[in-house]
Amino acid sequence: MLKIDLHVHTTYSSDALITPKDLIFYAKKRGLDGVAVTDHDRIDGALKIAKETDFLIVPGIEISSLNGHIIGLNINELVPPKLSVDETLGRIHEAGGLAVACHPVTFFKESLKGHISARFDAIEVINSSAFPFNYSVKHSEEIASRLGIVRVAGSDAHYGPEIGYAYTLVNAESRVDEIVKSIRKGLCSPHGRAIPFTMRFKKELLLLKRKFG
Ligand SMILES: [Zn+2]
Ligand SMILES: [Zn+2]
Repeated sequence: MLKIDLHVHTTYSSDALITPKDLIFYAKKRGLDGVAVTDHDRIDGALKIAKETDFLIVPGIEISSLNGHIIGLNINELVPPKLSVDETLGRIHEAGGLAVACHPVTFFKESLKGHISARFDAIEVINSSAFPFNYSVKHSEEIASRLGIVRVAGSDAHYGPEIGYAYTLVNAESRVDEIVKSIRKGLCSPHGRAIPFTMRFKKELLLLKRKFG
């Protein structure tokens, strides 16, 4: 079983503090076997980091579709933002990727809500940054059950210590293509909890300090 945080942002996302070095440091510290790098609307950072480390990196992207955020995993080419959900899903699948409905029900994030269909390969039922957390998990679980979609989890970390608060256990060999294949088949399970408020607060302070400091 591999323990993988499927939703992590790096400094290639303008709203994140995680340098490539932090990424590997905290992922190892939290006992993860791998992380998916899912920066907002860009893929260059994920590909560069994957090339420069031996640690398992699943290259991904968090796409700002017209109706909410969608994660593409195992993506090696840019999928443009501001497309419809259908078109975004088509592009992800054409690129050989896996489409994940991330934080489907939450406040303060661009959520898909009613735009989730069985065309998605997986649904992120646990997102450690979601608010309110329990409400979000409950409603995401309901959508997953109703549509019969595979369940995954990720921290949505934007700050090093947040990495690994949620993770997906995947029954696969430690290779990106095998991991994606296993998730597609549902050979995985979501785990995790909310990021503590003190940690979120610290992150916001650090972001402010970076902006104005
Ligand atoms: Zn998002
Ligand atoms: Zn995110």
